[in-house]
Amino acid sequence: MNALNPRPSILSIEPYIGGESKIPGVNRIVKLSSNEGAFGPPPAAMEAYAALAKELHRYPDGNATALREAIGARFGLDPARIVCGNGSDELLAYLILAYGGEGTELIMSAHGFTMYDLTGRYAGCQVIKVPEKNLTADVDGILAAVGPRTRIVCLANPNNPTGTLLPNAEVRRLRAGLRGDILLVLDAAYAEYVTEPDFDPGQALVDASGNTVMTRTFSKIFGLGGARLGWAYMPKQVMDVVGRIRGPFNVNAPAQAAGIAALAEKGWLEKSVAHNTEWRGKLSAALEAAGIKVWPSHCNFFLADFGAPEKAKAADAYLRQRGLIVRAMGAYGLAQCLRITVGTAEECTLVAEALTAFMRDGG
Ligand SMILES: *Cc1c(COP(=O)(O)O)cnc(C)c1O
Repeated sequence: MNALNPRPSILSIEPYIGGESKIPGVNRIVKLSSNEGAFGPPPAAMEAYAALAKELHRYPDGNATALREAIGARFGLDPARIVCGNGSDELLAYLILAYGGEGTELIMSAHGFTMYDLTGRYAGCQVIKVPEKNLTADVDGILAAVGPRTRIVCLANPNNPTGTLLPNAEVRRLRAGLRGDILLVLDAAYAEYVTEPDFDPGQALVDASGNTVMTRTFSKIFGLGGARLGWAYMPKQVMDVVGRIRGPFNVNAPAQAAGIAALAEKGWLEKSVAHNTEWRGKLSAALEAAGIKVWPSHCNFFLADFGAPEKAKAADAYLRQRGLIVRAMGAYGLAQCLRITVGTAEECTLVAEALTAFMRDGG
């Protein structure tokens, strides 16, 4: 027998299940299960990506210099403190592997993003999930859960899958209550969708604290999930650590080019935010009129709450028969809910009509 044994914590990981994209026997699929932007990739990004096909024999710029400069210019940040990644998932993994590990604890909120749990276990951390209040991260609860072994706190703000937002003052209170040797990771994957006037996705705290990191992504509002492109803004001491472990060519060349072009696409953010605010509102209102509870969201998705797991399951099946794929939430401990991405106007209308019919027909 030549059985191989990974570290025991690896076998405690439930493999990540992504949003589905196919239904056997259904031709037209509307995929609203992964929060990909409603409009697809920015046209200039598609062009830039395609143009790189002739250069595929060349290694990418290992420092993603032009991309980091474009990000810095766009968001008012020092490029020297930006690191790009193969999706922000890669950067989260670097941080968790570097600061976590066997004998340490990682704290997240109960319905925080699953990758913290999966990667935390991969690193060997004990992952602690803190109960929420009204599906929102509870700062007092998180602070009370901190122990001598705690090294990392991960907070998605606004959060996926709940869509809820923790106000700036609460995030600052969280940081102020954490020891200096605890890394606070602020995952702002949906920051661009937030319309609260004074919302700070984390940059002020990164600058002020020296032990906070903000992660961002091109996968959501910039429509580049398939290209795998994320970035993080971090203090110098964390830059030094990530610089030692980052793969030298971790971001591929077409992704870098697409990212630069996406940032330069005129009006893309404004158009996407306006559409999202409008159709998240319209779709939510239609579902509420049909008798479905909707959790208010700051993102390009929201939770539709059917009150009971069986009813959510029946609604999911009803949608699937019509080619509409949304996300079941059992893996997040929210089996009574479905997470619905805000798609195009037509896609939102199809979901509204289908769920209205489902509820009317005694779903
Ligand atoms: C989608 C998502 C990410 C991952 O984004 P990638 O950049 O595609 O790896 C990270 N955090 C949250 C909360 C997300 O929803």
